[in-house]
Order: sequence, then C-alpha cells, then structure tokens
Amino acid sequence: MTFLASIPIIHSVQGLIFRCAACGREYPVETPRWNCACGGPFELSGTPPFSRAGIDPREWSLWRYRASLPIEEEVSLGEGLTPLIPLELFGLGVHFKLEFLMPTGSFKDRGTAVLVSFLKQQAIREVVEDSSGNAAASLAAYCARAGIKARIFVPSYASPAKLQQIEVYGAELVPIPGSRADAARAAEAAAKAGSYYASHYWNPFVLEGLKTFAYELAEQLDWHAPENLIFPSGHGTFLLGAYLGFHELAQAGVISRLPQLFAAQAAACAPLAEGFRLGLPGPAEITPGETVAEGIRIVWPVRGPQVLRAIRESGGGAVTVSDSETVEAQRELARHGLYVESTSAVAVAALKKLIEQGVIKPGELTVVPLTGSGLKSR
Ligand SMILES: *Cc1c(COP(=O)(O)O)cnc(C)c1O
Ligand SMILES: [Zn+2]
Repeated sequence: MTFLASIPIIHSVQGLIFRCAACGREYPVETPRWNCACGGPFELSGTPPFSRAGIDPREWSLWRYRASLPIEEEVSLGEGLTPLIPLELFGLGVHFKLEFLMPTGSFKDRGTAVLVSFLKQQAIREVVEDSSGNAAASLAAYCARAGIKARIFVPSYASPAKLQQIEVYGAELVPIPGSRADAARAAEAAAKAGSYYASHYWNPFVLEGLKTFAYELAEQLDWHAPENLIFPSGHGTFLLGAYLGFHELAQAGVISRLPQLFAAQAAACAPLAEGFRLGLPGPAEITPGETVAEGIRIVWPVRGPQVLRAIRESGGGAVTVSDSETVEAQRELARHGLYVESTSAVAVAALKKLIEQGVIKPGELTVVPLTGSGLKSR
C-alpha cells in the first residue's frame, strides 16, 4: 500500500483519548497505564466515524475500512474478509461467518492487527500479555510481523497445540502455576516493572479492530444488519466490538436498527448470563467449574457492564449451555463440514437452544461467527 501510505495523515494520535468507562476520567493514549486509577477499563474516543465512501475496494482485508480505523500505518497479515456461508441446521437456515479462517486461526486477529499497528506507531519494543490460547497466539504472530518482543504469561493447563503455536512465532512463554487470574496478575506485575501490557481485554484498540466484523458483515449482506447474532462470550469483547461497529453503522445511516445480540456461555462459568438473568448492572459473582470451553472460562469480564448494556439495548439475551450440549453441537457442525474448537461450539449449542425456545424464528436472518479453528484444540 505504498500509494496510500504517501497520502498525508488526516487524523493523528493527538485526536485520540483513553476515557474510563467507569468514571469518565481521561488519559492521553500515550499513557503506559492499561486501566484507570479507579480500576475501570478504557474506551477510545476521538475515533473516525464509519464511512461507506471511505472504503478502499482494492484492499482485500479488513484494512478496506482503513478510513474508519484510528491507525496511520498498518501491521497486517491479511486478516479479515472472512466467508459468510448459509447452512441448514437444527431445522432452520443460518449463516456462519468463518472467523477461524484468519492468519492465526481465530477472530482475535481483527483486534490484534489494530492493537499492534498502534503499538508499532508508538515505537513500543516489548510487550507482555496473559492468555491461555488464541489471544496470545495472535499477539505473538503480529508482534513477530512488527518486530516487537512478546512475553506471554500462560496458566499451566493451556492446550499444548496453542502453546506450541505461541512459541513458534518467537514469543517468550512464561508458564504460571495456578489459574487464569494468576497469569493475569503476573502480566500486571511485569507491566508495573516497565513492560507494555498489550491486553486483548483491557486495551480499547482491540475493540476498534473488532468493529470491522460489523462493517464486513453488513457489506456482505448488501448493507443490512442480520436479525440475530450469537457470540461465544468470555470477556464479551467480540460482542461489544461488534455492537460498537453496528452502532456506528446506524449513526452513519447505513442500517436502521441493531441486530439482537446474544452472549453464549458455558454453564460452568457464566457470569454474564447470570448477571443478565438476575437483571444486574454487571456480571454476577460466580465460582467457576470446569468446562471444555477453555477460551471463555472467564470469571470476571472486565467490560461486563458495557457488554450487558449492549445486549439489553439490542433486545438480545444471554444463554448458557452444558459441556455435553457443546460437544454435540461441535460434532453436528463438523457433520456439515465445519470443524471449530469447543469454545466456538458453545454459540452453536446456544443457537439450538434459542431455536427450540422459539426466540430465534424461521425467516429471520441469524448469523453465528465461528470464532476458532478445531485444528488447534485438544
Ligand atoms: C477469545 C475467544 C472467545 C471469546 O471472546 P471474548 O471477546 O472474550 O468474549 C470465543 N471464542 C474463541 C475461539 C476465542 O478465542
Ligand atoms: Zn475510572
């Protein structure tokens, strides 16, 4: 993209601000902080709006929406523009968006591409992250592409296939005995000691990248939003990023209403679904059990209140499924030729439940993003 890179910069980092989602306090985006002094997560303000006229039709990646992204120079591995395919499943026509066909095998690449582009712009040389799988593999790959050193704190139970993937990109793996939360604390401690914490759930540049899911889907549907969307949700970042994208499409007058957004969670660890069911403003406090859906075994979703607000505003909901329902859905989908990891199959099991409950009806346009490849799960 040498031609485009030579066009003068229109929006600069100066226009962007980190704003705390909890208390509204503002910070320059150059801050080394990953959250507000009050503990709240940052949102990014001052980002360019969605513009259909700004689409670059010659770009076959999510960077065709470059004009709507707060980035001057991209770090890319060709992410985005995933296929949308119709299937007949559980007696109904459903569309699946094949997000597992990304450079590192999961939708996480949308957010990581934009986050690492920002980090490179900021001349950051070294980052830390905590994740048991796809987020870390994605960060390791994009850091390799950008020449940034990545150190990843992983809980010792992480899937061997994912650990191997993280390592092959050249990232430094630091196994942490204990839980996912222990790995997060180790990353936060390293950040206090001076490393940049490139967290896929704390850093709001990730949400900017995830907005492109909404842009892309609307473009594939001839500039319409579907009626229903079901996300396998851990932190709920994917759902929230999509919500923000659809919100911008509505503001730009491209769509007239939001899709109903559904969060699908494993029954053994469902703080968002519990919070939704109980009518709480944020996630419920839960004691997690074991689940095959390791990628969404998140006890405390840091953007929980924002996620629940997005679900409620869209008229959607939250669904829990058992591991046996998840495994059955994973097999059923594979019988149609699509092999996803069990975490992703949680949304497919939720789809079945929503159809049986009559929440999702025949004739409605329903889309399920398939978030991660079956090839790297156990
Ligand atoms: C990370 C991940 C999710 C959950 O995404 P959140 O943004 O945490 O809700 C779902 N599926 C797969 C395969 C993932 O890697
Ligand atoms: Zn705050």
